Amino acid sequence: MLSLPSSLADMLGARSGEAMELNDRYLNPQLGRIVRTLGFDREWVRGEGAHLIDAEGTRYLDLLSGYGTFAVGRNHPDIIAELHGLLDAHTANLPQLGVSLLPGALAEALVARAPERIAAMVPANTGTEAVEGAIKLARAATGRSRILHAEHAFHGLTLGSLSLNGDENFRDGFGPFLPDCAAVPFGDLEALRGELAREDVAALIVEPIQGKGVNIPPDGYLPAAQAACRKYGALFVCDEVQTGLGRTGRFFALEHWGLDPDIICVAKALSGGFVPIGGVLVSAAVRDRVFDGMERGVRHGSTVGGNDFAAVAGLATLRVIEREGLVARAAELGELLLSLTRPLVDRYEIVRDVRGMGLMWAIELGAPTGGRRRAVWSAIERAQTGLAAQLLVVPLFARHQIFIQVAGHRMNVVKALPALVVEESEIHRFAAALEDVVADADRMGGAVTRLGWDLARGSARALRR
Ligand code: PLP
Repeated sequence: MLSLPSSLADMLGARSGEAMELNDRYLNPQLGRIVRTLGFDREWVRGEGAHLIDAEGTRYLDLLSGYGTFAVGRNHPDIIAELHGLLDAHTANLPQLGVSLLPGALAEALVARAPERIAAMVPANTGTEAVEGAIKLARAATGRSRILHAEHAFHGLTLGSLSLNGDENFRDGFGPFLPDCAAVPFGDLEALRGELAREDVAALIVEPIQGKGVNIPPDGYLPAAQAACRKYGALFVCDEVQTGLGRTGRFFALEHWGLDPDIICVAKALSGGFVPIGGVLVSAAVRDRVFDGMERGVRHGSTVGGNDFAAVAGLATLRVIEREGLVARAAELGELLLSLTRPLVDRYEIVRDVRGMGLMWAIELGAPTGGRRRAVWSAIERAQTGLAAQLLVVPLFARHQIFIQVAGHRMNVVKALPALVVEESEIHRFAAALEDVVADADRMGGAVTRLGWDLARGSARALRR
């Protein structure tokens, strides 16, 4: 039998450089193909704030932030200190038939920062688990089964959350899905009212700003959607897994519209990126209707939900967000980023839109008109819809050491979720680098065309997530 490494130090030393080989053999070789195709196959050895550092010591500006998880920056020392403190404290973690202090304190802190209606937390461990919880709680609290979600929504990849996702790239092969789930166009109030009027809807579950595409709802849509839910007896659920904890320049994105949901899902950034975490924040009415007697007191939950590590990391993360003023910082730096990058819409034909709220930002591309440039663009897009966006992503990484991603399948949208601790100078650096690669892609010169062909050849089916 293969002998185990004797310690973490031994593992990080003796086997450094083996990550890709181990991934390809034992984890996900298709992910390895994607990473190699994009030229992202660096040996990452350290994370620091808004940066990732490779084995050669090169520092990359990380605009993925682990899909938004490292909002307070990677390896924040204050959270590390709190986790060390917890390890040393030998707490009575997870008594199960008993209660402990720390998860209650985290719930108290989140409830205090949530809108009026929210009164309690049902712990979870991930974003998708929080959404699964929201589906179950909404059904049990209303006695209804239908769940509405927005087109192009993303709520996670377990079966319930996937039932609220219209993207075939994720769904194909995994059906049948949860019955009684229906999509409504994001921003279309009449379509929503039509569905709600049947009076069989348990909940509308919606991201205040959609992660796939960074779609911002039309003004007035979310408050009207909330009011329509109330009118027809459905719960209004905000999935703040990506938008929450300061990302959009408010603690919760729902604050931009003064919303007061029945349920809020949180996860990702809440533990500073150290510990899996999730939570379903609920109104007292939802909690009391679901857990409505002693015999129903443990009808939803999970073995390690509400563990001390997640709770301590969560509390420490909230403290960092407040002490460092990260919510206001996200708002200010987001404004700066928009002011620097919006002019690209007028300067370059391929730039169709630049949008964002706080530090959730996106640039959308479209085909150039006429001539050779359009022919090249179309050929790249024929190989795979949405591939042209990689003409920005790949050179941003290779030429500018900026790590960024496309915002979803088959869409020419590039998205940035910087750590909220990112320096102002890095926002300027990103804006300048972006203009450099946009100008190149707009010209569609020889190097860009060659990159397009290489990507089309190498990635036709691999560029998934
Ligand atoms: N909800 C939203 C809005 C998300 O963006 C995500 C993940 O990207 C999820 C839910 C699922 O979270 P997790 O990947 O932790 O399951």
